[in-house]
Amino acid sequence: MMKDSSWNHHHVAVNVNLSAVNTDYANALRSSTAQFNNNFESCEHAIHESRVIVKDLPLIGRVRILMDSHGLKALTFIIIYWIYGFFSTYFIILSPHWSEGRIPDVAAYAYIVISFLCLISLFRASTVNPGAVPLIDKLSTDIDLSKLHDCQSCGMKKPARAHHCRRCQQCVLRMDHHCPWINNCVGEGNHYLFLLLLLYAFLMSALSFTLCVFQFWVFPKCSACLETWYLKPTTSIWFLYVLVLISVAMSIFMGLQFLSQQFNLIMDRTTLENMAVTSGRAILRTNFRSWFHGISDICGTRNAVVWLLPCRRRPAKSIYEYIHAV
Ligand SMILES: [Zn+2]
Ligand SMILES: [Zn+2]
Repeated sequence: MMKDSSWNHHHVAVNVNLSAVNTDYANALRSSTAQFNNNFESCEHAIHESRVIVKDLPLIGRVRILMDSHGLKALTFIIIYWIYGFFSTYFIILSPHWSEGRIPDVAAYAYIVISFLCLISLFRASTVNPGAVPLIDKLSTDIDLSKLHDCQSCGMKKPARAHHCRRCQQCVLRMDHHCPWINNCVGEGNHYLFLLLLLYAFLMSALSFTLCVFQFWVFPKCSACLETWYLKPTTSIWFLYVLVLISVAMSIFMGLQFLSQQFNLIMDRTTLENMAVTSGRAILRTNFRSWFHGISDICGTRNAVVWLLPCRRRPAKSIYEYIHAV
């Protein structure tokens, strides 16, 4: 189990933080955002026997990495895909045709910006706390413990819609699923980042494929186009063949994932909850809500201007809202 010597120290700090929430309920709700952000940041330290290591990095802030060999391999594969996709598209197609005026500035900048937003979303979705449930029994005496469940796996108290992830060995608030491709759970804390990752990965792959189509069928043949400083034309053409295959596969996969997430969002169900719905009666009980309401809930704000930013910190609900909402 990954545990460093500072954990016990942090564990004490968490209990102090959580005890500080022990004010009256109205006050707790009023200052819920600040407090929960505080709890949210600290609660990974409260995980028993977790496989997650937590590091505070300069400039970037707190990152958490799940020490799961399968997940780390899958994440490495995705990073290699990004590097391959970006460099093949940029150096073989985009840069030569852009410099000769066949690709407008706006399209070239759009590809570059979307690619980097995709990379940032990937980094943040895989390193942000997905919403590990804090030690609720230590939180406060004004919490109605009868509304909580005992986790069958780790024994911790957890509110409704929290699930235990066996890979992460922790309970996660409004857990959607465990995604091996980002080597992290998708839950209350990083669901918005996961949606952004799907969106930007889809756009990046679709743009790569579109540029391949232009390269093969629209742009005029020229010796300089496939001649880069590091690749011969005979080699770069193979890079493009592989790029076509991967970008088509990724566009379809990411696009379908993004669409299915939109349906979940409207139905107010997580992926795990959807899998549990099998009877017709349960389908009829589906609680539909507007897309705007759903996406505001996932993104933590009704301010649509910031929805597309993967760098921002999401205002989180307070743990009290979880417990008293259901
Ligand atoms: Zn659990
Ligand atoms: Zn997990």
